[in-house]
Amino acid sequence: MVLCGTLPAFGWGPQGHNLIARLAAAHLTPEAAARAAEILGPGNTLASISSWADRIRRDRAATAPWHYIDIPIDQQHLDMVRDCPKGDCVLAKIEDFKKAVVDPAATAEQRKEALMFLVHFMGDMHQPLHCSDNRDKGGNGVKLDFFGRSSNLHSVWDSGLLGRIGQEDALFTQFSKDLTERLAKKWSKGTVGEWAEQSHKVAQKVVYGKLPKAPAGGQVTVDAAYERLADRVIKDQIEKAGARLAIMLNATLR
Ligand SMILES: [Zn+2]
Repeated sequence: MVLCGTLPAFGWGPQGHNLIARLAAAHLTPEAAARAAEILGPGNTLASISSWADRIRRDRAATAPWHYIDIPIDQQHLDMVRDCPKGDCVLAKIEDFKKAVVDPAATAEQRKEALMFLVHFMGDMHQPLHCSDNRDKGGNGVKLDFFGRSSNLHSVWDSGLLGRIGQEDALFTQFSKDLTERLAKKWSKGTVGEWAEQSHKVAQKVVYGKLPKAPAGGQVTVDAAYERLADRVIKDQIEKAGARLAIMLNATLR
């Protein structure tokens, strides 16, 4: 996906990032929670800083590519040399900031930024269109009708569909009930690269694979069947991101 600062493509909207951060916070060990609070400083929580990386993106243009990785939609596997040649994609940055957050040589401000980026990017990489490229600017180029509103595929997956599932607090209650310790453990297995491949597979199978076809001369219309499938996937991806973020922070902030 080719993104520039003027495109409204930001990964999950604040609602999605908040949910992921709140799920992770609910699964932190007391040690990791205390370290995170110390690094972020008074008045901040994982949720309150979860969209910071999007807010600074316009002013810090170099950070724009950090939010995604372009795995071609017709490829089955991730290839870091092909898909992240400059080392500035979301997967490389997650590894960088995982180290920076506990780097004894880093300043307090650098550790805080590292944690804020980490929380955000773990969310972004679970938005399937942030791990896929179909030569359409990550779905921004796919115009569609979204229940009477004109939108595009990327925006619908960032926030449109999630916004229709429900309000954040109601969703959080439901998600946290379903995200059992057993499930969190199961999902946390694997590498960051394997998680990206899972996101990519979802883009292949559902985001593009099940997208209704546009009629001749017309545009795609999102229908109830697609929304049903997408909602299940989005719920899953958000729970996975929350669980994996918690396990990662528990292993890192000790
Ligand atoms: Zn983002």
